[in-house]
Amino acid sequence: MTLPQGSNNVFSEGGVRFTPVASSAIIRRVENASHPVAGVDYPRTFEEFDAWFGSEDACRRYLARLRWPSGFTCPHCGARGKAWRTKRGLFHCASCQGQTSVIAGTIFEGTRKPLRLWFLAMWFVTSQKHGANAMGLQRVLGLRSYETAWAWLHKLRRAMVRPRRDRLKGSVEVDESYVGGEEEGVAGRYTETKAIVVIAVEMQSPKGFGRVRMQRVSGVSASDLTPFVCAAVEPGSIVHTDGWSGYNGITKHGYQRQITVTSASGDPAHVAMPGAHRVAALLKRWLLGTHQGAVSNKHLDYYLDEFTFRFNRRTARARGLLFHRLAEQAVTTPRTTYRGIVTGEGHALAQKSLE
Ligand SMILES: [Zn+2]
Repeated sequence: MTLPQGSNNVFSEGGVRFTPVASSAIIRRVENASHPVAGVDYPRTFEEFDAWFGSEDACRRYLARLRWPSGFTCPHCGARGKAWRTKRGLFHCASCQGQTSVIAGTIFEGTRKPLRLWFLAMWFVTSQKHGANAMGLQRVLGLRSYETAWAWLHKLRRAMVRPRRDRLKGSVEVDESYVGGEEEGVAGRYTETKAIVVIAVEMQSPKGFGRVRMQRVSGVSASDLTPFVCAAVEPGSIVHTDGWSGYNGITKHGYQRQITVTSASGDPAHVAMPGAHRVAALLKRWLLGTHQGAVSNKHLDYYLDEFTFRFNRRTARARGLLFHRLAEQAVTTPRTTYRGIVTGEGHALAQKSLE
């Protein structure tokens, strides 16, 4: 397959168009295939990645393609199509003469580091099954500061939640789990109380799991659990829970509730919600393994997002698909300030209240 090489933007009367990263022959062959396509929309191997993203301009072109899939749209005046590239790589709108950087309004906005380094970070994080921690990222990118690596991972996590994602449906197990509790802090060792994470997992028949959703909650009363179920599960679904009264209200929101009582079986090893239990175990192992347990409660929601992003794509044949999704969401996710990252504020789901 021909690898993209030095492809330039195509200027046409209709305005600027972005030359796809692959050759036109490949594009024709796959134009009816469902996108994204391996080797066309995303690199399949590190060798391809390296060949595609050898320059800042190549990275910018790729982001432009993801950000404006049907052609440039001016963020200043809303005009579509007509724009040209300046020498500095900005888009100059033919309608309002305003200039736009492809990274303005994205998680990359304001970065002083090359985009190529960001691309390497995205590749590193998505190409490994269990992801990366800040120390690993710092080492592999040769970043001088640990804080930069740590902040980058947090910025990327904010791009791991797909906006307006579909809710879980069918048969869904919901249960709470207690996560964390000990943290290796920057200023020495201290202990936090465990966080309560409520987990929803689609149960497939006869066995197997579908997708998951999870969220930190402040308690296990109905006012904590009902909003989570409503945000995570499509009404009409069957929601399996234990006998806890905190779930009593969900039937009023259009769910069919099925209760399994743990103690009824009389078997101490029996788990009422095996799916949610299994996902909780995987989550804890991931937090302790990849992140060495160094996740504070105020940041936990973002780690839950990353875990969900990975878990829901665990069957993807090509890891490059995760890179593509992450890059795609990175250009539609606004930047977060370093302060916002440190405080952990502004989590989308955590702030979402019950309608
Ligand atoms: Zn404009």
